Amino acid sequence: MTGRNWAGNYAYHAPLIARPASRQELQELVAGADRVKALGSRHSFNDIADTEGTLAVLDLLDESISVDALNMTVTVSAGTRYGTLAAELNRQGFALHNLASLPHISVAGAVATATHGSGDANGNLATAVAGLEMVTADGGMLSARRGDAYFEGMVVALGALGIVTSLTLDIEPAFQVSQRVYEGLAWDEVLENFDEVTSSAYSVSLFTDWSGAAVQQAWFKSRAGDQRHGGGSSGFLGAVPATEARHPLPGVSGRNCTHQLGVPGPWSDRLAHFRMEFTPSKGDELQSEYLIPREHATDALRTMRSLSDMVTPLLLIGEIRTIAADQLWLSPNYDRDGIGLHFTWRQDQPAVQAVLPLLEAELAPFIARPHWGKLFDARAAAIRPMYPRLGDFMALAESLDPFGKFRNRFLERTVFGA
Ligand SMILES: Cc1cc2nc3c(=O)[nH]c(=O)nc-3n(C[C@H](O)[C@H](O)[C@H](O)COP(=O)(O)OP(=O)(O)OC[C@H]3O[C@@H](n4cnc5c(N)ncnc54)[C@H](O)[C@@H]3O)c2cc1C
Repeated sequence: MTGRNWAGNYAYHAPLIARPASRQELQELVAGADRVKALGSRHSFNDIADTEGTLAVLDLLDESISVDALNMTVTVSAGTRYGTLAAELNRQGFALHNLASLPHISVAGAVATATHGSGDANGNLATAVAGLEMVTADGGMLSARRGDAYFEGMVVALGALGIVTSLTLDIEPAFQVSQRVYEGLAWDEVLENFDEVTSSAYSVSLFTDWSGAAVQQAWFKSRAGDQRHGGGSSGFLGAVPATEARHPLPGVSGRNCTHQLGVPGPWSDRLAHFRMEFTPSKGDELQSEYLIPREHATDALRTMRSLSDMVTPLLLIGEIRTIAADQLWLSPNYDRDGIGLHFTWRQDQPAVQAVLPLLEAELAPFIARPHWGKLFDARAAAIRPMYPRLGDFMALAESLDPFGKFRNRFLERTVFGA
């Protein structure tokens, strides 16, 4: 029927696909369905978006981007891609607080899985959600705003509560960003000065395959006027600034990436790593990521280095980012500042799936919460103790969707099941 996800590693099983042309058609579709799920831009690597019933593709619904300059928010239709939104906001003089590595993803799909960028003080993209509207299981509309009861359970919802039709996001005045890539940052420096490294710019990413004595690339995205080191053209803790644009993946052209070399420009062209006009990352790949409390950062990094023999042969590249704590019940950043250990794997699913349980066993002492939209092995029994509000989320899902219309195999395996 609908084919495959972006990476091509997952074929959707849903027997039916529907493309409602209006909100009313969507409401009727949901009201009449036994099982239904919204599909975003298909950038998740697992079966999170699949269903045994009807897959609702929202691309025929009107795309809208409406700025409220008084309240400093923007209301967008669910399927809007971040790249489209960022360009329009910047054109009007506004900004989002952060972007993920790619601008191609839909706002509703990214928010549903707590997609994040980097930055010690930056919450994930879902933390910008000030309100949302969704079609609930009975076909009715539900609106919720920050501060309402249960709101913090409704934002990162894995598609389990309803089909979101629009989201209202916090905005701020547009700002300029300069981006610089440093090469050869020694692991000894990273481990000894981790706080200094990650606080040296608004957003810092370290790219590594976990082997060798140095991190391959350190990407610093600095806001204009920021006096921290990250924008500087001198060396950083012994690492050397790149003299031409770099791609995180060895052998791939830096042309596909957002502007570097310290040249200031709009936030909308610098906060993501990859440019909207190009395939992000590699395409022929798989991804996993684990979110770990900041207090365990250096221990987790040391553990990862000790696992190099196991992971490096399967990796295209890894990325380390930082994310601020939030209060969204199913956010992997719930109630704790954290680091993200991201893995861009070669596209060898059997080999990756064989490694994931071993990797998760090694990271278990750090309470490593898996990224919901990437590949992981953990089942509900292991995940539930990691999320203090997961019981509340299950009760909320039960009350909004008593017949499990929005449930799927992914949710049974990782949230609701044994
Ligand atoms: C190349 C690449 C780079 C990536 N980089 C990052 C990164 O930097 N940071 C990061 O955190 N993640 C990253 N990801 C992961 C990605 O952001 C997430 O998987 C995200 O959820 C994908 O959004 P999507 O629109 O494709 O949603 P889909 O994968 O289509 O769906 C994801 C979930 O959202 C639900 N959903 C979608 N639309 C709606 C709706 N209208 N109402 C209710 N539920 C809905 C679906 O049902 C499903 O449960 C990356 C992925 C790729 C392929």
